[in-house]
Amino acid sequence: MIHVCLTHDIDRIDKTYQYLTKPLAALKTGNIGLALRRAFSPQTVRRPYWGFDKIMQIEEKYRVRSTCFFLNESIKCKLTKPKTWKLALGRYDIHDKRIVSIIKELDANGWEIGVHGSYNSYNNYDLLKHEKETLEAIVGHEVIGIRQHYLNFCDNTWQVQHQAGFKYDSTWGLTRGIGFKNEKVKPFFPIANADYCEIPMTIMDGSFASTPERWKKFDKIAEEIDKQNAYLVINYHNNNFDKFDFPSYVEDYERMIATMKNAGALFMTMGEACRMILDSM
Ligand SMILES: [Zn+2]
Repeated sequence: MIHVCLTHDIDRIDKTYQYLTKPLAALKTGNIGLALRRAFSPQTVRRPYWGFDKIMQIEEKYRVRSTCFFLNESIKCKLTKPKTWKLALGRYDIHDKRIVSIIKELDANGWEIGVHGSYNSYNNYDLLKHEKETLEAIVGHEVIGIRQHYLNFCDNTWQVQHQAGFKYDSTWGLTRGIGFKNEKVKPFFPIANADYCEIPMTIMDGSFASTPERWKKFDKIAEEIDKQNAYLVINYHNNNFDKFDFPSYVEDYERMIATMKNAGALFMTMGEACRMILDSM
């Protein structure tokens, strides 16, 4: 049996510096038409990186529900540290009216809300606790799941997440390529005797788009998951539902859902999967 968990890391909701970088990338390939559409998309698409309308429309069409991991980034932008620019620029405020409203709407209609742990939180109990409690105050009930931003991870990550009260993590996955990190296909329990599990992430949007013969690879991954009665965890960022900046992503996402539906897979949120996994312990 294949279980499918659809997920979305919500890194950003507004297109900002990408109005410069994305047209430039298109120009490099000589595609002037695409460069123009990327530069002027605000006039044709009101909020190109919002993505939630498209996500909800596709998932409603197939009667499935996903898990959305919301980021509450607090890293300071330091001019002397270029690495912090991208993390700090274009981030959203978790208390932004649009964010609060979409969180409540998703939650009320069967989607799951989780924490997308901020850049430095992977080894910081206080940050994790704060981000969990802030999100819980918005959504109005407990939040049990997390995935770390940039898949940041260290030996201590599971422990601090567990201490902060999370029941599952889904950071275990490849940053390049698709499939299984260290051959781990099934969910596992990284902390002895704890009500806590790791549900590995299998496929991320950007990596999938750049994988040669990606649909052949997809079938192989699904086959392995079926064999092991495991979970196919798919991660598509909301901003990547913009068709000009991320061509083929929306079609790929929908094709994955349709393919798995036809194969008789069982769809569930990560929270629902977590409960099943912990119950089977
Ligand atoms: Zn992220």
